[in-house]
Amino acid sequence: MSKLTMVSTELPEFAEEITTAMFKSFTGQGGRDEYKNVLNKYHHFFDEDFINKLKNISWEYDDSSRENFYIRGYLIGQWYSYHTKDFLDDLTLLEIQPVINNKGKLISLREAQKTNQISFNNELNREIHKYLDEYYNPKATEFYTILNTLSIKLGFNDFIEVADNLRRYKIDNLISEYDRFLEYTDSFFTEEVLKNCSNGHFNLNSIDKLDDFTIERTVSDMNFLIDRMKWSTKGIQVAWVNSRNKTGNSFCVPLKIPGEVILVSDNKQGFQTQRHLYHEFGHGFHFNNVDEGLVYPFRRMGDHAVAEAFSALNESLLFNKHWLKSRGYNSDIAKEAYKYRVYLIRKYWAKLKTEVEFHRTLKFADNGYYTRALLEDDMSLYNLLTLDDEISAAWQLRGWLLHAQLEELIIKKYDENWFEKEEAGSYIKQLFTYGYKFNADEVSELLGEDLLNNKALMHQFNQHS
Ligand SMILES: [Zn+2]
Repeated sequence: MSKLTMVSTELPEFAEEITTAMFKSFTGQGGRDEYKNVLNKYHHFFDEDFINKLKNISWEYDDSSRENFYIRGYLIGQWYSYHTKDFLDDLTLLEIQPVINNKGKLISLREAQKTNQISFNNELNREIHKYLDEYYNPKATEFYTILNTLSIKLGFNDFIEVADNLRRYKIDNLISEYDRFLEYTDSFFTEEVLKNCSNGHFNLNSIDKLDDFTIERTVSDMNFLIDRMKWSTKGIQVAWVNSRNKTGNSFCVPLKIPGEVILVSDNKQGFQTQRHLYHEFGHGFHFNNVDEGLVYPFRRMGDHAVAEAFSALNESLLFNKHWLKSRGYNSDIAKEAYKYRVYLIRKYWAKLKTEVEFHRTLKFADNGYYTRALLEDDMSLYNLLTLDDEISAAWQLRGWLLHAQLEELIIKKYDENWFEKEEAGSYIKQLFTYGYKFNADEVSELLGEDLLNNKALMHQFNQHS
């Protein structure tokens, strides 16, 4: 038995243990060594010889090479974690220990960031930046330097080149699609979105005032959708987590695809929680309707942009006036929700630009991208904490490109009230069944489009602005 075959049989167990460890780390409830222990247990995945063999697997279109190529991408990703696991734990610790002074009380970096997002406070902002400069950024710079060294060891120039290779697209091309979107939306941003922003943050109060956004309503919306779309939901659970130390406000934990998917969310009122829950339900519907007969790598390892596109589809019901009307919401929500989408797209553009430049230069400097995107001079958003070691902004941005194409096609085929039609549900379900087998460019081709591009996104903007 070749080593690759042997490792493949252990992969499901490994992936599930890693997912569980990450779940615990996100919620701030994991032990310090949780993630590290799993990586150590499977250390035989990461020996030099094997990784060098994996590296030489090249991309071919037939199913078995595709499968090996996905295992290659997944394991090389984990190999980076294996070699940086001490840093990952140290960085998490720097984020969750109570060290930042907020009006005499010590809080963690994560809590401080959240507090500042809800209502910005100059003094707290100064404390955050002092801590970032002194402790967090130096450690994070060391971490990214190691990622670079590992990339060179693999035979690439930098981390971005590795990502391009593993993901089969060029991040630079993705950025230029969005450079155009940025210019295209500049005046809308200045005239419509900027008044909702302060210190680079989008203030959701004006949306919250438009209606009651409750958990009960969200769950009933999703039940309505499930009923009309006839998607399989057995195995989807929602876990309410209110830890102040978790990274995001919500996330999805696919323990088994399909069959066991946990959606983690805050149990709060408000538009943001509702939007997050719509988003996570989108992941849940996708993962839980993946064809069980697919080989394991096609169910879990591939282009996350595809998963993000389905979440975005669900989320964008909030700027679909027909949906809002049908569910008894104030239709003014549509425009406000879309403004927020434009804000997020621009912010992710800045994040990606910043990240790419940082990976290429390893120098932490204000490059002005956040200022360009959000038209805000205050640089409080710019810090290494906003980066991640997976360049997730790239798959989020690709997800929005694919979503715009998907939505355009669904509306053309089934009309704006597609969410009421079982045929639309079946069409989308068919796309769910492929899991991760195709990347976002290939799904775009399945939809009858060229490779991913910004055409449909621009069109969506024209419809909503
Ligand atoms: Zn997502």
